[in-house]
Amino acid sequence: MACLLLTRKLYGQPVVRSFTQNISNVSVKTRLSLPTRKPQQLVTRTFQTTSKVHAAPLGPLLVKLSSPLYRFGFLYLGRRLRQYWNNLPPGKREKYTKTFTNSRNAIFGGVFAFGGLSGLYYISHLEEAPVTHRKRFMILNHSQLEKVAAFEWQKMDEMLERKKLPPHHPLFKKVYKIVKRILIANQSREVNGIKWEVNVVDSDEVNAFVLANGQIFVFTGILNEMENENELAGVLGHEIAHAIMGHSAELLSLAGFFNVFSLAILTTLWAVIPTDIGAFAASLLQNTIEDLIINLPYSRKIEQEADEVGLLLAARACYDVRYVPRFWHRMHLKDGGGSDAIMKWFSTHPTNASRVKQIDELMPEALELRSSFQCPQLQEFYDASHRFRQVRLI
Ligand SMILES: [Zn+2]
Repeated sequence: MACLLLTRKLYGQPVVRSFTQNISNVSVKTRLSLPTRKPQQLVTRTFQTTSKVHAAPLGPLLVKLSSPLYRFGFLYLGRRLRQYWNNLPPGKREKYTKTFTNSRNAIFGGVFAFGGLSGLYYISHLEEAPVTHRKRFMILNHSQLEKVAAFEWQKMDEMLERKKLPPHHPLFKKVYKIVKRILIANQSREVNGIKWEVNVVDSDEVNAFVLANGQIFVFTGILNEMENENELAGVLGHEIAHAIMGHSAELLSLAGFFNVFSLAILTTLWAVIPTDIGAFAASLLQNTIEDLIINLPYSRKIEQEADEVGLLLAARACYDVRYVPRFWHRMHLKDGGGSDAIMKWFSTHPTNASRVKQIDELMPEALELRSSFQCPQLQEFYDASHRFRQVRLI
C-alpha cells in the first residue's frame, strides 16, 4: 500500500501509485535496525494497548474480490442475465415473473437476513486502533497484509530501481538519520514488529509514502521543499504512523466489506438497465457515490490520524514540532492559498489548510509530550507564517 502525503489524488483508491521522472543510477535498500531496549511508555498515550488483530475467515477472499478483474466479472454476469431474460420466450418470462411475485416475501426475507448477518460480521470484527483507540473494522492480520505489501513492494522496486539515491548520498543520509531517531524514540511492539527500510527517490514529485511492510519512500521533490529537519520529521512521522497504525489493512478491510454490496448493486444495474450505455453510465455514477460517501471520507480520516500520530512520534523524538504546521501552511500557499471548498470532497487527503488547523490544535499535547522526555529546551521560534495565516485563513 502506498499512503500519499501531498498529492491529493482525485477518485481513486489510495493503494497503488505510479511514478515517472528523473533518473538516478544506483538502487539502494538500507535496512534500519533498532537497538534492543525496553519499550518506553508514552506519557499521555501508549502504543501498548492494541487489541489482538484477528484474521477473519473471509478476510482475504473479500479483499481479493475488490480487484478490478472480479468487478468486471460481476458486470459481465449482470449483462448476461439481462440477455438471458431478453431472449426468453414470453410464456417463460410470465412464469418467472409470477414465481418471483409469489416468492417476494421469501426473497426480501433473504435480503434482510443477509443484511443482518453482514452487520453482525462487521460488529464482530471491530478492534481498537493503537494510540488513538479508535474503533475500526479489520479483517486482515499482519501476515496476510505482508503478502499484499510484498507484492506491491516488488512492483515498486522494479519501477523505481534506477531512481533511488545511494546510501552515501547526503539526502539519503539525512532521511535515514531522522527515520532512525523517530523509530528509536518510539520503540514499541508496533514499531519493532516492522522491518523498516528507507528509499529516497530522485524525482521532482512532491511526495512521500510508506508500504505496509515498512518500506518508506521519500521523493527528492518533497525534500527540496523542506526548510529544516523538524519539518521533515513531521512528514516522516506521518508516514511511519501509517505503517504502525496498520492503515493499509484497515483500508483493504473496509474496501473488501463494502465491495460485497457494491458488486451486488453493479450486477443488478447491468441486469436491469436495458442498454449497455445506460448501465455503464449508472455504474460510473455508482462509483462516484461510493467514493464520495465511503472511500474518500474514510481516506481523509486516516490521513488526519496519521498527521496526529506522526506529530506525537516526532515530538517524542525531541524534534521541534512547531515547524510541522509551518510546512503545511507553506504547501497551502503554494497550492494557491484558496479554500478548495468543493474539491476537498473529491480528495483522498484533507486540504493543507485543514491539516494546519488540526495540527495547531494538537500542538499543546505534542509539546507537553516532548517536554516529558527530557528533550533539549526549545529554541526561540519565529513563525512568520503564523501572522500571515491569521490574515489568509481565518
Ligand atoms: Zn498519508
